[in-house]
Amino acid sequence: MPAPSNTRVLLADRPVNRRVQESDFKIETVGAPELKDGEALLRTLWLSLDPYMRGRMSAARSYAKPVEIGEVMTGETVSEVVTSRAPSLKPGDKVLARAGWQEYAALPATEVERIEPEDMPLSYFLGVLGMPGQTAYCALLGVGQPKPGETVLISAASGAVGQVAGQIARIKRCRVIGTAGAPDKIAYVKDTLGFDAAMNYKGKDRDALGAELAELAPKGIDVFYDNVGGVLHDAALANLALHGRVIIVGGISLYDTLETPDTGIRWNRQLLVKRARMEGFLVWDWRHQTQLFRRDVSQWLREGKIKYREDVADGIASAPNAFMGMLAGENRGKQLVRVAAPS
Ligand code: NDP
Repeated sequence: MPAPSNTRVLLADRPVNRRVQESDFKIETVGAPELKDGEALLRTLWLSLDPYMRGRMSAARSYAKPVEIGEVMTGETVSEVVTSRAPSLKPGDKVLARAGWQEYAALPATEVERIEPEDMPLSYFLGVLGMPGQTAYCALLGVGQPKPGETVLISAASGAVGQVAGQIARIKRCRVIGTAGAPDKIAYVKDTLGFDAAMNYKGKDRDALGAELAELAPKGIDVFYDNVGGVLHDAALANLALHGRVIIVGGISLYDTLETPDTGIRWNRQLLVKRARMEGFLVWDWRHQTQLFRRDVSQWLREGKIKYREDVADGIASAPNAFMGMLAGENRGKQLVRVAAPS
């Protein structure tokens, strides 16, 4: 078999205090990587595009080191083993890997997880049964600890994390409100996912958002699952219920200004008045719950209690545009790139 060529996407420039643009990426085709002992050659089937990758394009200090200029963009993949020099992997095996934005990667067997999906699509392991789904499950149940009858507010409610978090809150018999940035997303979370209410945040200032939230949550917000930050966050904090819990999961409205963060701490008093709790969440701290999360969410998917949608771009070269589209809210569900079909 001739050695396959490898098309890959590199970081070409860092977007500093601006939106990501096409020239921040470079697409090139090189030879497939050589294998060392203990490694497998992986062909990417599915690439996950996630908002955290915007943070990795920045040199601003974070919980993980940035992608260097000229390096392959980081990312989780579902990949297929092509050839293997590791006893634990054989050609045809499907694995979860951090292969990045490229068609092929050589990785140590110890760094990948074999998946045997039985009745679930492979792509689900990058979404509802993968990192975003686990973020939804562990942040809501582990940190938010919602009780039946409580009001839960989810921002970026129609996306990879938000759609799952909101439905889990419904399963736990909470009243669920979602926010999103387009009329069809509002209709989706209400009519398809069964949220009790939803609000379009676009074009509204903090006071308008606060007033609308006060109407939607007259008894206050018991659990605020925040994916967005910024003025929406401020508006939600003004509407907390007594003993409310605020889970800081993401801050996508702030990701284009990581180098000059808005650090004003203006809302501590809301926490005092409501004796509320605010906690940051990072999914990698919850690895001990991966099996529990997969078991519960698989069950809810089989029972039809969780619905889930994906937005699929085709081919590795489509990754930069699909990524920029997701950051701008163009995705309808979990953003993926279908890189190759399984053999
Ligand atoms: P989504 O599928 O929700 O896609 C991102 C969405 O963010 C867009 O569709 C858009 O929807 C919304 N958005 C973009 N810009 C803004 C803005 N300025 N204000 C409000 N909303 C905006 O992404 P994910 O579900 O994968 O991720 C959601 C959040 O969860 C992110 O902040 C991410 O970083 C975080 N996360 C955190 C993890 C952790 O461990 N802490 C792990 C995984 C994700 P809209 O049309 O509604 O604006």
